[in-house]
Amino acid sequence: MSEATRVLVLNAGSSSVKYQLIDMLDGARLASGLVERIGERGGRLRHTPRSGPARESASACADHAAALKAVAEELAADGLGLDSPELAAIGHRVVHGGRRFTAPTVITDEVLREIRRLVPVAPLHNPANIVGIEVARALRPDLPQVAVFDTAFHTTIPEYAARYAIDRKIADEHRVRRYGFHGTSHQYVSRATARLLGRDPAEVNVIVLHLGNGGSASAVAGGVCVETSMGLTPLEGLVMGTRSGDVDPGVIFHLHRVGGLGIDEIDDLLNRRSGLLGLCGDNDMREVERRMAQGDAEAELAFRAYVHRLRKYLGGYYAVLGHLDAIAFTAGIGENSAGVRAAATAGLEELGIVVDGELNSVHSDAARVISSPYSKVAVAVVPTDEELEIAQQAFALVHDTR
Ligand code: ADP
Repeated sequence: MSEATRVLVLNAGSSSVKYQLIDMLDGARLASGLVERIGERGGRLRHTPRSGPARESASACADHAAALKAVAEELAADGLGLDSPELAAIGHRVVHGGRRFTAPTVITDEVLREIRRLVPVAPLHNPANIVGIEVARALRPDLPQVAVFDTAFHTTIPEYAARYAIDRKIADEHRVRRYGFHGTSHQYVSRATARLLGRDPAEVNVIVLHLGNGGSASAVAGGVCVETSMGLTPLEGLVMGTRSGDVDPGVIFHLHRVGGLGIDEIDDLLNRRSGLLGLCGDNDMREVERRMAQGDAEAELAFRAYVHRLRKYLGGYYAVLGHLDAIAFTAGIGENSAGVRAAATAGLEELGIVVDGELNSVHSDAARVISSPYSKVAVAVVPTDEELEIAQQAFALVHDTR
């Protein structure tokens, strides 16, 4: 029997499941896909094999179990079924691992119970992750299933940075502290940045700016995360597509007491109707930049607010690290928007940050340096790959335990 070298990565959201089957010998994607609108009308599955066209099917998946079965059937149709002996593990993205899960973990009943205990701090995410795990375990009970936590990379943040300055007893009773998210991406990108510079991750200090629909910054010192911008929930920090990022908590009391908004309404306002969307009516940075180029004042305000917040974090994290080797831009906006990268780093020559305009405007899928040779701090664009990182962590763990 050939050695099992494949990992199926599952990212189960509240109404969607994303998956990739990766061969760890060369990192090749053997298949990938997405099931959307689970439990809703108009559900569909889009399956992309390694070669050949993507297959799209209207797939009325009543629940996650039905969705994962449909995924298993698509994989089987390509000869990549879940019963294949080449499958070494299933890696699950789990959003919240609390303080306990500092590393990828083989899922046992006890681990699953602990992930469930964290539902109160991740009510939107962990329940879907749990269902994904349960269904996958039922399909292949003999196969190692590994949880890779979005919070794990941030568990090294020092206590004084992780605590909110509120009553300690109340905070501890309700597990209120700064956990941070997007950790798998920050970990992957900080290491890839060191590699791009030809250096050991343990030797370099990097600020990673993960700018997608959600966005977060992290300060990574010698491979260890020391600060990140998201907090108890993904709401804290940067201006995002639809999230406000930092606001004075007093805004919430004010909207409630004076504005008469209920707590759920405010939750919805700050998470889904704020950020770029709230400021200008568009949450897609492409659209914001297009409108701004046509002289649209609202779009310009949104862009400036976005960049201003980013610069505050950049400067703050520079001070946190003391010495800075590199800034890495990643995710949809970080990888594709030369305009955001230019604006975020403009005028920082005295901090040793000099971006080369020409290098910055090159479009590419490759990790690349965009700073001038005179820049003390390297500025880089480093595409993130959370699925590959999840697969690598799961595979390494399964190998070590064997
Ligand atoms: P998610 O957080 O959902 O994984 P992504 O990392 O894919 O998101 O980022 C999606 C965002 O990337 C889009 O909302 C869009 O604002 C931005 N984006 C993608 N391509 C470009 C581009 N060429 N220019 C500016 N922004 C872009």
